[in-house]
Amino acid sequence: MAAGWQDVVRDAAAVREAAAVAVDAALLAGVLMRTGEQPHASDVVNYAPFTLLPSAVPRALFEQAYTVQQDFNLLVDAISQNKEFLEQTLASTIKVDDFTARLFRIYMQVLEEGLAQTVFLGINRSDYMFDCGPDGRAALRQIEINTIAASFGGLTSRTTDVHRLVLKVLGKTEEASHLLPNNPAKGLALGIAKAWQLYGSQRAVVMFLVEEVQRNIFDQRCVENELWSRNIRVVRKRFRDVFEQGSLDASRRLYMDGQEVAVVYYREGYVPQVYDQQNWEARLLLERSRAVKCPDIATQLAGTKKVQQELSRQGVLEELLPGHPEAVARVRATFAGLYSLDEGEEGDRIAATAIADPDRFVLKPQREGGGNNLYGEELREVLEKIKDSPERTSYILMDKIRPQPALNYLLRAHSPLQVSECISELGIFGVYVRQGQQLVLNEAAGHLLRTKAVEHADGGVAAGVAVLDTPYLV
Ligand code: ADP
Ligand code: MG
Repeated sequence: MAAGWQDVVRDAAAVREAAAVAVDAALLAGVLMRTGEQPHASDVVNYAPFTLLPSAVPRALFEQAYTVQQDFNLLVDAISQNKEFLEQTLASTIKVDDFTARLFRIYMQVLEEGLAQTVFLGINRSDYMFDCGPDGRAALRQIEINTIAASFGGLTSRTTDVHRLVLKVLGKTEEASHLLPNNPAKGLALGIAKAWQLYGSQRAVVMFLVEEVQRNIFDQRCVENELWSRNIRVVRKRFRDVFEQGSLDASRRLYMDGQEVAVVYYREGYVPQVYDQQNWEARLLLERSRAVKCPDIATQLAGTKKVQQELSRQGVLEELLPGHPEAVARVRATFAGLYSLDEGEEGDRIAATAIADPDRFVLKPQREGGGNNLYGEELREVLEKIKDSPERTSYILMDKIRPQPALNYLLRAHSPLQVSECISELGIFGVYVRQGQQLVLNEAAGHLLRTKAVEHADGGVAAGVAVLDTPYLV
């Protein structure tokens, strides 16, 4: 591996010592998660899983990812305001995918009533892998962009210090000094604070819309505490609380038991399982309100895999970002091959290709949160089954990205210390705020590196597959 930790990997005693230091450092720094056994309280917590060593990331690709983030912010914001594009793009999907259809219905309903919201806040995370070409050169390839509940901006703000210490313990003081500072928690909070300020009511709070089971609460607390330090009140509520306590006044200001809400920051709401009838009603109430939703429902739809696939079609980026040819070129340069499975010749052809050679592709439904995609034999079986039915249009196909593996240790509570062949996924956080038609903030807010053993095709940190990491630029 280019970062040159081979000497470390050969020294088992040094690795054991460094791992013990690393775990204590993570606990001290607040790289924490609630346990699976006690997910509702913080009496007993674990460190969040992380790598022992920072992973090598090509500097040029890292910089490319940062540079293109403002373009992606612009693009997502543009899509969220383009009813015609969303309608056309999702038309085939919503016929067969009930979840996307229900989100879309709320979107249309809110538009028909007329938007009360005038300030818009986007927090997204664009994820990439480094695709290793036949010539051995790596290229930046976008995996997806997350426009709702993009997580780990908090915990990752604290992992760099842990890795810096580990490198020092391993005698790599010089290398330790090269690790970049990274504080997405602060960047995200600055965006939320800006939206709160533009909403313009000192008394109003920021509401984190959180899960029933909150194992990743410390990640969210990092952002919350940044807001408290700016004297902005934060409350944590679930959909059920909104159903029970939420109301709108005549100008559609949102109140929770009499407390006005300026910003709703969703850390929940992206999987169908959380929505029963009451929670759908709660979601509709929030979307109808004047409060700044992060994201509003249009922006959530802009993050669907179907939209991602459509963006790769010739001419689409140009239409969405007229007058921004450089941004279009930068965005397109990160795209992997993406293919529609809509009914028709084009879809028939790519479905047949994927059935013949499934290892070249990933089959993706319109879902978020990891563990939903299909690979290899399973991809072939599913596609065989649905290839002649409209159901196939609820999926897209994507070229499989093949990064160069590197050796590392994945530190997890109650797991043996062992070396693994690993691949990494780099995420860049984007934050933007728009007031009416004017973009008043557009920034890259920091990065997240997640690393997993090569034998896992899918899954993030919350899914228990990937772990937190720090890039070491080479
Ligand atoms: P989700 O919304 O569930 O996070 P993703 O598109 O991010 O969906 O896919 C989940 C995981 O699957 C990614 O984190 C990555 O590890 C893997 N993955 C997704 N797309 C590809 C791809 N084109 N090539 C290789 N691995 C992929
Ligand atoms: Mg993902």
